[in-house]
Amino acid sequence: ARHDIYWTQGLHRALQQQPDGIATIFGERTRTFTEQADRVARLAGALRELGVRDGARVGILGLNSDRLAEAALAIPWADGVIDVVDIVRAPFEMAPMLAEAETSILLVDDAFAGFVPQIRAAYAGLRSVIHMGDGPPPADTTAFEALIAGTAPVPDARRGGDELAALVHTGGTTELPKAVMHTGGSMLSLAQAFGATLPEFVRPGTRLLQVTPMSHVSGVGTCLATSQYGNTLVPLPRFDPAVVLEMVEAHRITAMFVVPSMLQQVVDHPDAARRDLDSLRLVFYGGSPITERLLERTEAVFPHAGFGQVYGMTETMSCTLMTPADHRPGPQRRSAGRTAIHSELRVVDADDVDVPTGTPGEILLRGPGVMQGYWNDPDATTQVLRGGWVHTGDIGYLDEAGYVYVVDRVKDVIVVGGDNVHSTEVENALASHHDVAACAVIGVPDDGTGEQVHAVVVPRPGASPDPEQLAKHCAAYLAEFKVPKGWEFVEALPTSPTGKVLKRELRKPHWEGRERQVN
Ligand code: ATP
Ligand code: MG
Repeated sequence: ARHDIYWTQGLHRALQQQPDGIATIFGERTRTFTEQADRVARLAGALRELGVRDGARVGILGLNSDRLAEAALAIPWADGVIDVVDIVRAPFEMAPMLAEAETSILLVDDAFAGFVPQIRAAYAGLRSVIHMGDGPPPADTTAFEALIAGTAPVPDARRGGDELAALVHTGGTTELPKAVMHTGGSMLSLAQAFGATLPEFVRPGTRLLQVTPMSHVSGVGTCLATSQYGNTLVPLPRFDPAVVLEMVEAHRITAMFVVPSMLQQVVDHPDAARRDLDSLRLVFYGGSPITERLLERTEAVFPHAGFGQVYGMTETMSCTLMTPADHRPGPQRRSAGRTAIHSELRVVDADDVDVPTGTPGEILLRGPGVMQGYWNDPDATTQVLRGGWVHTGDIGYLDEAGYVYVVDRVKDVIVVGGDNVHSTEVENALASHHDVAACAVIGVPDDGTGEQVHAVVVPRPGASPDPEQLAKHCAAYLAEFKVPKGWEFVEALPTSPTGKVLKRELRKPHWEGRERQVN
């Protein structure tokens, strides 16, 4: 073998162990592992004919689908590197990213086929475009199904190991997204961590609903992990709480990964009470902190499910995990879990010196999931990886049993008269009020104290919460300087496509013309 660990290994294992097992279910289409492997080997043949070899970049741009999952297997099979295009970017932003990665082949679905002329106009390096959609292929593109039907299968190049396998963009929550380089080995460390901690992955018959977009680490990661364990992937093109509930019932879904803001909408949806959701055995979440109240709501809506949490970042894959057993009532329920298998975690001060248990500091991480670096950005890479540890930019503390509690991002900490206010603490207090559906707190300028705590609240439908009462409620849990002084009521919070609250958007109107200091 070229590598003992590689991207497509799970597919070979599934072929050997359960050739008639179901690989993907997408709308009316169901594919067995035998069918999937044949299609992947043919698509890889087509990519080779288009010149893919030795780590050439092949872009994927589309909503979650069975074909997108096939593309993600065929590219490494052909010895290419997957360039995961961030679907929220406008075509004029995608073109320079594709140019930067020298990506010359692009697979695109119906949702994004309209972008192709604009991308081509701005980037001359795009040689071939493959159309994954169902309709007739647009001009100058080749139909995915025609390529598969017309090309002979080729042997697997077994790309993976310590070679570059994928470029995945960060969430773009704090600034413009960065392209992160991962090897097959680092991507697969996520699957290893899942399998070691979340029994649902190694249990036969698992059906995973892929809710988060394939264009970010959580979507790619869950897709890859599902394939590693020979589980069934049910891709969902667009998040919609009613559709999630419908799919769980219709396909007897056993596992799904969501971000908390998606989970919120699912458990609050009226259909949650009338769908049969008993098949769901694992709901795992991550990407941003979850409030205790949402956890309680989730337990009520999915009484048969276990809960898992993943804390990590595009740069590290998973870093800590929380198991279903950890989710029982108790102080550790607020944590993001303990280090995943093979990962190491430290909490340090500004000089990278370890702080005592219970003291907040920056979370550092080391392990097999760590990126090779940022594409074409050695300076940013050196900065983040200084001392051989990933500097996460997240603040947290450890307890005696090694549970880590993520309290904020360094960039979101609110400094009131020299004292730090961690937004999750305030958000947890606020979210426990029954009139609050969702909330975010931010730092806004204050002439006296530098910053002040400002709350942005989405009221529960039909409720019209009163700021004075909310402040009183918070004061029961928080020191006076942490209680929000400013209030804003909105219909929805601005979120990134992966469902994270964009605090920089919320802060913008308050900081017009001023510079905000971040320590
Ligand atoms: P960018 O780096 O481009 O600003 P981003 O940091 O949101 O965007 P991702 O790599 O997708 O991009 O997200 C990683 C971040 O998400 C972590 O650094 C952390 O702040 C947050 N996060 C992930 N999981 C959790 C979790 N379980 N609890 C709290 N925060 C989490
Ligand atoms: Mg980040």
